[in-house]
Amino acid sequence: MQVTDMLYEGKAKKLFITEDPSMLLVEYKDSLTAFNARKKSSLTGKGSLTNRISAELLEFVGTQGVPTHFVRLLDDTCQLVRRVKIIPLELVVRNITAGSICRRLGVEEGMELKDPLVEFYLKNDDLGDPLVTEDHILSFRWATPSDIYAMKKLALQVNRILKEFFAGLEIILVDLKLEFGRTPEGNIILADEISPDTCRLWDASTGEPLDKDRFRNDLGNVLGSYREIWRRITGREKK
Ligand code: UDP
Repeated sequence: MQVTDMLYEGKAKKLFITEDPSMLLVEYKDSLTAFNARKKSSLTGKGSLTNRISAELLEFVGTQGVPTHFVRLLDDTCQLVRRVKIIPLELVVRNITAGSICRRLGVEEGMELKDPLVEFYLKNDDLGDPLVTEDHILSFRWATPSDIYAMKKLALQVNRILKEFFAGLEIILVDLKLEFGRTPEGNIILADEISPDTCRLWDASTGEPLDKDRFRNDLGNVLGSYREIWRRITGREKK
């Protein structure tokens, strides 16, 4: 795959323009950030794990009928995706309380929610990705009513598919963050990544986090946990 220019460099990924204008190359970086990039680090091999895990999970939800931007894995740290216009919102789906919802609402961690809860956050690093309501989204025209409907429906579908998939691997899907993009034909599809950087995943028997909370909360063994997720998903060891 011939790459030309770098389009964008984010906290965990770089995007490159390719010879095909409808495709982008995504390079997953080794860098880890938390708390709106106030905490930073780099772990050799992290990008390879999130690239490969994300490729597996995007491909899997694709086979279950979710339209995604994923095209194919290119190498250890890179994947090819469809170029879409990213909707400037992050959707978080929660099955169990953890993280910001506990801080914001004073609820205890580990409460099982009766139904999955969908939240919208505005993608804006300077503002620390604030929580927004559907009315804010409509007032400021960040998305249309049909976009909101489509994103929510897809987010709940992805959550349902992955919750069941992870349960079969003795992993609890606590919450996950999803992003969506619009294709040139105007369809909303799943974009970005699905990995332990963007989901909370707890070992079902011990309750231990196997995700980025190990970095956020200085629990150690970040790479070992990501490797464990890879091992359970694929049944293979990752060097
Ligand atoms: N998340 C993410 N990117 C963000 C914010 C959150 O991938 O910019 C993920 C996070 O890893 C977790 C879920 O979304 O799986 C919910 O995060 P939360 O709102 O609890 O925020 P946090 O506790 O990470 O500040």
